[in-house]
Amino acid sequence: MRVHLDSEKCQGHNRCYALAPELFDVDDYGQAVLRIDSNVPTDLHEKARLAAANCPEFAIKILES
Ligand code: SF4
Repeated sequence: MRVHLDSEKCQGHNRCYALAPELFDVDDYGQAVLRIDSNVPTDLHEKARLAAANCPEFAIKILES
């Protein structure tokens, strides 16, 4: 699994960071940034899906593989 974050859609609600701080961080402007640039470890798959489902801007995409 990989996570894709569309920075242009992100409005900085930070729900992703609240739900999955292992995968997301917040930059100086309040926008989300990915903390992981490769395959998501299996134990974080559920959190990744939860963050994607809770992003109100649909900025997070899960790429299953
Ligand atoms: S929940 Fe979505 S809109 Fe909010 S900070 Fe995360 S990626 Fe951005």
